[in-house]
Amino acid sequence: MASFDLRGKSAVVTGGNGGIGLGMAKGLAEAGANIAVAARNQTKSQTAVAELKSFGVDAIALTLDVNSEDACHDVINQAAKKFGSIDILINNAGTNIRKNPEELSLSEWHTVLDTNLTSAFICSQAVYPHMCKAGGGKIINIGSMMSIFGAPFTTAYAASKGGIVQMTKAMATAWAKDKIQVNSVLPGWINTELTQIGRQQIDGLHERVLDRTPAGRWGEPEDMAGIAVFLASQASDFLTGTAIPLDGGFSVQI
Ligand code: NDP
Repeated sequence: MASFDLRGKSAVVTGGNGGIGLGMAKGLAEAGANIAVAARNQTKSQTAVAELKSFGVDAIALTLDVNSEDACHDVINQAAKKFGSIDILINNAGTNIRKNPEELSLSEWHTVLDTNLTSAFICSQAVYPHMCKAGGGKIINIGSMMSIFGAPFTTAYAASKGGIVQMTKAMATAWAKDKIQVNSVLPGWINTELTQIGRQQIDGLHERVLDRTPAGRWGEPEDMAGIAVFLASQASDFLTGTAIPLDGGFSVQI
C-alpha cells in the first residue's frame, strides 16, 4: 500500500497564510510535514503558523513578495536551511484584477502574470537543486477553472492559469529523470478572500456558481487538503504533468 505519510518531509507553500494555501498546508501538516508559509502579510502568516504547529509539526513564516526573483530564491534557501531539505513546493500565491480586456492596463496584465505564473517558474527553479539533493520532490501548481474556461473579466488571469497547466507539463517532462513530480490542481469555486471580493464585484456570481456546481455548494479551503497530501506523498510517485480539477463537478456539468 502506497504511503500518504509525510513525516520527515518539508514543504514551502507560497501564499500559505490563508485560503487555499492554508487549506493545503493544513493537510500536509496533518500528514506530518514541516511547513514554511511564504507570503507578504506577516500577521496572517504568524496566525497560520500557530494553527499548523497545533498538528505537532514545525512551521515558520517567511516574508515573501513572489514578484521579486531574489526574494523567492532567498526564501527557498532559508526554508532549506531551517528544515534541512525541501521535498514539497506548492506554488499557490495568486491574485486577480477583474476587468474586461479593453480596460486592462499593461501594468495590470503584468501584475497578474508575474504573481500567478512567473512566480511559479521562479520558485520551481529555486527549489530544483534542493530537490535534486534530496533525491526527488513534489511540485504542486495551483491553476483554476480559468485554466479551462474563459470569462470576459479574466483575460490576464486565464492567461496565467492556462500557462500554469502548460508549464506544469513541460517541467514534469524535464524533471521526471530527477524523481520530481510536477502536477497542477484546478480548484473550482472555493470560499476565500479572493472569491469573497469577486462575489462583491460580479453580480450574480454566487448564485451562478451554486447553480452550475453539481455538488450544490461552494468549496471550502479544507476541501483542498486531501489532494495536497496525495500529490505531495509517495502515493503519487507515478503521476506527473497532470491538471486535476477539484471543483464539485463544475467542469463536467453541461
Ligand atoms: P486568497 O486571496 O485567500 O489568498 C491568496 C494568497 O496569495 C494569500 O495568502 C496572499 O498572501 C498570497 N499572495 C498574493 N500575492 C502575493 C505576492 N505578491 N507575494 C506573495 N504572496 C502573495 O486567495 P485564494 O486562496 O482563493 O487563492 C489562492 C490561489 O488559488 C491563487 O493562485 C488563486 O488564483 C487560486 N484559485 C482560487 C480559487 C478560488 O475559488 N478561491 C479558484 C481557483 C484558483 P499575502 O497577501 O499575505 O501576500
